[in-house]
Amino acid sequence: MSVILVTGGTGLVGKAIQHIIETEPEGSRFGKKPGEQWIFVSSSEGDLRDPEQTKRLFEKYKPTHVIHLAALVGGLFKNMKYKLTFLRDNILINDNVLHNAYLSQTKKVISCLSTCVFPDKVTYPLDETKIHLGLPHDSNFGYAHAKRMVDVQNHAYKDQFGCNFTSAIPTNVFGPHDNFDLEGAHVIPGLIHKCHIAKKNGTPFVVSGTGKPLRQFIYSNDLAKLFIWQLREYDDVEPVILSVGEGEEVSIKEVADAIVKAMDFKGEYTFDATRADGQFRKPASNKKLLSLMGGFQFTPFNEALDFTVKWFVENYDKARTGVKA
Ligand code: NAP
Ligand code: GDP
Repeated sequence: MSVILVTGGTGLVGKAIQHIIETEPEGSRFGKKPGEQWIFVSSSEGDLRDPEQTKRLFEKYKPTHVIHLAALVGGLFKNMKYKLTFLRDNILINDNVLHNAYLSQTKKVISCLSTCVFPDKVTYPLDETKIHLGLPHDSNFGYAHAKRMVDVQNHAYKDQFGCNFTSAIPTNVFGPHDNFDLEGAHVIPGLIHKCHIAKKNGTPFVVSGTGKPLRQFIYSNDLAKLFIWQLREYDDVEPVILSVGEGEEVSIKEVADAIVKAMDFKGEYTFDATRADGQFRKPASNKKLLSLMGGFQFTPFNEALDFTVKWFVENYDKARTGVKA
């Protein structure tokens, strides 16, 4: 019997893993296997910044495996504003989860990092060997340093205690159940919500920054399958980048254009170049992933974006939108 505890199980990525586990054919590569019990928890079952609450969560579920997603997460503007909170909350969460996994002899932990952890100035494409080769971009300095430390901790737990702890490094993620809060969100959910408001109120749709930066986006349901693969088929401390190909970079303008199209928005659409662009690009290689997995069919960006927009419009009342305008 395996008990797989997914921390942050009610967020964008957690909900996608739950969806895939529940909808893929049982026993298939990404479907539920006999003898597996999956548990998806939110902060309501324990604030993982707190050692006692984390200990109680591990005592309650006695997980054999952990997919550790829980984190203080946010887009560029939230990261710029709350650097210390991002640093501190994430250090506490990660330390509590990893140490309780060690104490309770959890067989395996996969923690979720992000391509934000990589150095700002480094040769592209990013790959798994480059995490610690220089300072991260200043805009997400707190978050990036906290997340980098997980890789350091994983190595130390392995070297001192033989723990099977590893990490996954996704690029920018999007999909249903994302955080669509206006200022705190990542670019895709933030702009979907802004475009929705502009359409409803007949106001301009304003995109922050120049629209020139490039990002690689992965659809949450695709990422979910990659996590399930990593849980079952990968046993090494070194991280794996979970990403579409490095040729799949999309500019923020292309993202905004695709949202305008998917929402059938006909109003005024502008860029506010006085706002930050953040890191210009962070292209990551998925070579290691594909060579280990033997190939993977990613959902085309526009198809996944259309689906996400449709989900948001249909689920506006229950979506995480922050203050509704
Ligand atoms: P999300 O939608 O914001 O969900 C965050 C999850 O973490 C929620 O279930 C939340 O529970 C939980 N959580 C937050 N603080 C917690 C705490 N103190 N104690 C216990 N649980 C807590 O985030 P996401 O986008 O799914 O991100 C999942 C992982 O992917 C994170 O590790 C993130 O760093 C990483 N990642 C995300 C992206 C992206 O573009 N979204 C890109 C790369 C990596 P409550 O709802 O109860 O607070
Ligand atoms: P990042 O990849 O960590 O920088 O995170 P984001 O998902 O927040 O992407 C930020 C990029 O999108 C930057 O170039 C922003 O200037 C641009 N952007 C444009 N409009 C928005 C918006 O409404 N919200 C966010 N978060 N970013 C936006």
